[in-house]
Order: sequence, then C-alpha cells, then structure tokens
Amino acid sequence: MRERRPPEWTEKPRSPPGKDSYYANALTGTGTHGNTNHARWVNIPKPNGKIRGLGIPTIADRAWQCLLKLAAEPAYEATAGERSYGFRPGRSTHDAQKLIFNNLSSKAKGRDKLVLETDISKCFDEIDHTVMLNGVVLPNEALKGLRKAVKAGVKGEYPSSERGTPQGGVISPLLANIALDGFENLGSDQWKGNRRDGTLIRGIRYADDAVFICKPGADIQKLRHDIDAFLDARGLRINEAKTKVSKATDGFDFLGWRFRVNSRGVFKSTPSQKNYADIKAKVKGTWRNGASTEARLKRIESQVRGWRQYHRFCDMSKHAMWSLNHWVWKKLRAEKHRQSTKDAERARKMALKGFERALGAAKRQLTTKQVEKAFPSVPWKVNNHVMVKGAASPFDGNLTYWVGRNSKLYTGPAADAIRRQKGKCLHCNLPFLEIHGPVELHHSDGDHNNWKPKNLVALHRTCHQAQAVHRKCIKDGVRSRAVKA
Ligand SMILES: [Zn+2]
Ligand SMILES: [Zn+2]
Repeated sequence: MRERRPPEWTEKPRSPPGKDSYYANALTGTGTHGNTNHARWVNIPKPNGKIRGLGIPTIADRAWQCLLKLAAEPAYEATAGERSYGFRPGRSTHDAQKLIFNNLSSKAKGRDKLVLETDISKCFDEIDHTVMLNGVVLPNEALKGLRKAVKAGVKGEYPSSERGTPQGGVISPLLANIALDGFENLGSDQWKGNRRDGTLIRGIRYADDAVFICKPGADIQKLRHDIDAFLDARGLRINEAKTKVSKATDGFDFLGWRFRVNSRGVFKSTPSQKNYADIKAKVKGTWRNGASTEARLKRIESQVRGWRQYHRFCDMSKHAMWSLNHWVWKKLRAEKHRQSTKDAERARKMALKGFERALGAAKRQLTTKQVEKAFPSVPWKVNNHVMVKGAASPFDGNLTYWVGRNSKLYTGPAADAIRRQKGKCLHCNLPFLEIHGPVELHHSDGDHNNWKPKNLVALHRTCHQAQAVHRKCIKDGVRSRAVKA
C-alpha cells in the first residue's frame, strides 16, 4: 500500500502571503484528493419509501473542493445569467419571487399569460461530465483533480431546489449551475416587434428548477423543443409527468410558494399547500420528540420564525396558523394538567375551591403566554423585496451597491447597529459583505439581556469570535450566539 501523505497545505500552514506557489500547490491536486475515492456512501430513505444513495466526501476532499469553488466561482459569476437565482452569492429565492411578481402583476398584464413549469428528471448522475467541466475556469492541473473528484463522489449529490441545501458536496451547486447555465434564457429569442419589453418568454431558474412565463403569442411548442435539445446536449431529459403548461389564473407552485393571478388581474403569492403541510408536520413532530417542554417550545419558536421569515413577502392573511397554535395550546395544557394533578388534589383536600379555580385560570394564562411566545409574529408585506440589480455580482467590485444591499437583509437592532456603524465592522473596519459571512450582534458589556443600542455592536462572525470575552467560550466549544435578521 502506498503511504498516505497529508496534503501540502497542511504541511505548510504558515507560508507567508504572496507566495503564489503555495496556493497553486494546494489547487493542483496532489494531496489526498489525488485519489479521491474516499466518498462515504450513505443510504437515505426517501419520502416515497425508496432508498437513495448519497456520497459524502471526506473532510480533506471537502476542504479541497471549497478551495476550488473559491477559485472558480468569480470566473463563473462574471458571465452567469441574471435570471438564475439558486446557490449564487448575493441572490436568493426572494429575488426569483419578486421577478415573478414583476412579470405577473396587473401592470404586466399577468392575467393573459401562460406558465410552463419544467422538471428535470433526477438524472444528474447521468449528466455529461465533459460538457459540465468544460465550463469550469480553472488551471489545468486543478481541473484534472476535479474530474477525478466528480467521477468518484461528487456524483449523486447535486443540489435540487426540492431538497433546499446541498448535502456535503461543496462545489456541486456551482457545477450544477455551470452545467445548466443559459437554461433560463431559452425562448428569449422569441420577440414581438422591436420594443424593449418585446420578449415573449421569460425564464426564471433556481438550480434545476425553472419556470417560463409566456406572453400570448409565444410559441410554446418551439420552447419545449429548445428545452429538449438543451438538456439532450447535457445528457439530461425532462420529466414529462411534472412538466406542464398552466394559465397564470390557475396558479402554479415554485420554491415553496403558490403564485396565482385572480380574475381581477391581481397577483398573489402565498405559501404552497405542500409547504404549509410541511411546517405543520414539522412543528407537530417537534412537539412529539420528547425533549423538555421548554426546549420544545424554543424549537417551535425558531421553526415558526424561520417559516414566517421565508414567507414575509407573501400574503399571509390566511396563514396565521391559528389551528396549529391551538393544537400546541391544547397539548401543552393537557401536559400541564397531568403534571399538576397533585397540586389540584391538595387544593381539593384543603377545600379551597376558589383557590383551585384561581390556580386553573393562572395556569391557562401562563399556557397562553408560552404558546404566544412559541409563535412569534413576523411582519409581512406583499412583494416588498428589493430585487438584485440585473446581472450584479458581489465580485463585480461595486462595493457601494453590495454594502447597501447586504444591510437591507437585516432588520431590527442588527440593522440599526449596521446603520450606526455606516456599514463597517467595528473590529476590522471592513464593510459587511455577504462573502464575509453573516453579521452578528455583540453585547459589549457581556450581558446578553442588555439590548440598549449603546451596548450593541455589529461585527463579522469571525471578528465576533475574536472578541476577548468569547475566546474562552470558543476554546470550550461553546459558540457565541448568532443574531440573524
Ligand atoms: Zn470584521
Ligand atoms: Zn458577543
């Protein structure tokens, strides 16, 4: 057996910056990834009862993949399509949502439009590696390593908007985007006249999921033909069962939302039926999982907040979760009732009926309070998201735009602190950009209950962890609390 040497970049961790050879060595694939076949296969049950295999690369391979991603992403971002929103820096599902609104609003005459939903068959395993890797801009040596990695284990774990986040594969979302680059532009050659807004078809893509919004007069047959040819060249094909054309007035599902234009021409987006069922099942599952009452309520709180955050640009008037709220209330009440039989018995023995009643009322009040806390309200405003500007990319050097945009992603005390600090981190004095990671709030006096503005400082996550008060916590393995919008 050949002796396994650690990769070069672990041998020379303190190489002075500026030595290009050090980074080049790390990229050229001579470390453990040179024989990438350590991907661990895990079998995961699918919702339909079947089992799917998932290759999880080793830590060394993942670190190396991450390095390749950092090197290849800026090059791809420079030419990437402006209507692709999945797994790209500075872009999110909310941008896609807003673009759909712009195309289906009453001003855009959304009522008359048709929507083609596409679903690419789960054949990412069969995707043509040559075509995919041709689009990657990297030094030849690094490409060689990447080709090996793709063959060995990156396979089978491409992101899918259905599954949300990619599992383990660090570079696979980027590779998927490169492979499907331009998919969303299909049909944009269909024009009416030479007006600026004369495109008949607008494609919007999120990873492998796409919708095409078609104006009356668009040739959908031709679009379908173009789609088939595009996928065929990449060894992929369309899933006929899930690909369909529907009227905007009938509505369609995309990225967990239901989009529909009503008969008066008013556009509306709401959480999709499946998405709503999922969050209900999730909350009920959390309640049943057996941890302490406080811990369960806390988890429900973060689940509900996250869900409401995601849908904050939807019409939520019909999704207030009353029934789920009541379900949790009843369960909590019943649980407490069981726990407090002893108290009640004692009260009865003492013949203090009034006391018992008062006790019951007080407990109901407490239950209501606890449940209220577990269902935190998040303000929503329909279509209020500010869409990312055209083909802008965080790598394009337009700092003013990206600092401004990044600060808009935060609300509450974090947003105030960022504004006070003029968009710069107080620790390193660099601007807050998405590529620097999330912004965290630091309580300068160490008291996490002191939310006075004077006590709050916005820092990069890494800068936050470098604060003297937190160093001990990190050493002990305790992570400081992240503050998200
Ligand atoms: Zn900083
Ligand atoms: Zn702190």
